Amino acid sequence: MQAADRAGKKAAYDNGCPPEPPAAQGFRLRVPRGFVRRMRHGDPSDPLLRQVLPLADELQSPAGFSGDPLGEAAARLAPGLLQKYRGRALLISTGACGVHCRYCFRREYPYADGATEGPRWQAAIDAIATDTSIEEVILSGGDPLSLSDARLRQLGDQLAAIPHVQRLRLHTRQPVVLPERVDQGLIDWLTSLRWRPIIVLHANHAHEIDDTVIAACRRLHAAGATLLNQSVLLAGVNDSIEALRALSLALWSAGVLPYYLHLLDRVRGASHFEVAPERARQLHAQLMGELPGYLLPRLVHELPGAASKLPV
Ligand SMILES: *Cc1c(COP(=O)(O)O)cnc(C)c1O
Ligand code: SF4
Repeated sequence: MQAADRAGKKAAYDNGCPPEPPAAQGFRLRVPRGFVRRMRHGDPSDPLLRQVLPLADELQSPAGFSGDPLGEAAARLAPGLLQKYRGRALLISTGACGVHCRYCFRREYPYADGATEGPRWQAAIDAIATDTSIEEVILSGGDPLSLSDARLRQLGDQLAAIPHVQRLRLHTRQPVVLPERVDQGLIDWLTSLRWRPIIVLHANHAHEIDDTVIAACRRLHAAGATLLNQSVLLAGVNDSIEALRALSLALWSAGVLPYYLHLLDRVRGASHFEVAPERARQLHAQLMGELPGYLLPRLVHELPGAASKLPV
């Protein structure tokens, strides 16, 4: 941990807050104030609070939960570049996120030895340039919108110079947790790209989508982006018909289509969020009867070594 980080954290906890819980020591509490304002105050079971609050439950490590549940280490094409699926490569563009989601499957990802931020992108860019089967590059992380506009522009320019890259996709939670990130500089960059970007957001509950998020989505849409959302089925957050239905409708009001509903990846520290596959199937089947087809996310899970995400 950086000294500045430590000082910042100390200041945060001196601010009348309780001491840092042991669960937060490996993976710190991090959440933007705007996201906190969308929580119901005084409610310990608030679905937004549960996504970010370190709990003692994280210290359990039942069998089947590990540090790399998706076998990402085996999918490494170059430092910071993963390829599991035909035609698509995923670039870990940074390790930083605007929020720390307690269920994150990359909470133990070794960003330090794989991260490609800055000059270290070069090996990943070279690998993409060499492999003409890569049609789509997915900027992921971490959260690619944690990068500055200048960095994004640099990365976009390097990718634009590779003729066989036909699509650019961003996987980001930033427009949801920190909508002010969608500022004019970002819009200018998106508009200047040679592709119409696909932006896959990440919201798990309708309460995450307030007017500031809707406004950010409108700006992204106006910049030519296709907006999709992926969420994770999380016990105590969105594992009910009402919550899932409300999420799809809230996404629609922001101009975003639901894409995937993921089963939890079995990462160490997140077992208390798991919803059994049978229960997930029931919820999804019921949801199908409640919503038009275009508002129904695909229920999927990921198995190491599979050629795509798999329907449950
Ligand atoms: C999820 C994922 C993708 C994208 O899969 P789609 O089904 O195209 O959304 C690509 N690469 C990796 C490594 C992934 O984990
Ligand atoms: S924003 Fe995404 S990568 Fe970052 S902690 Fe949350 S789930 Fe993980």
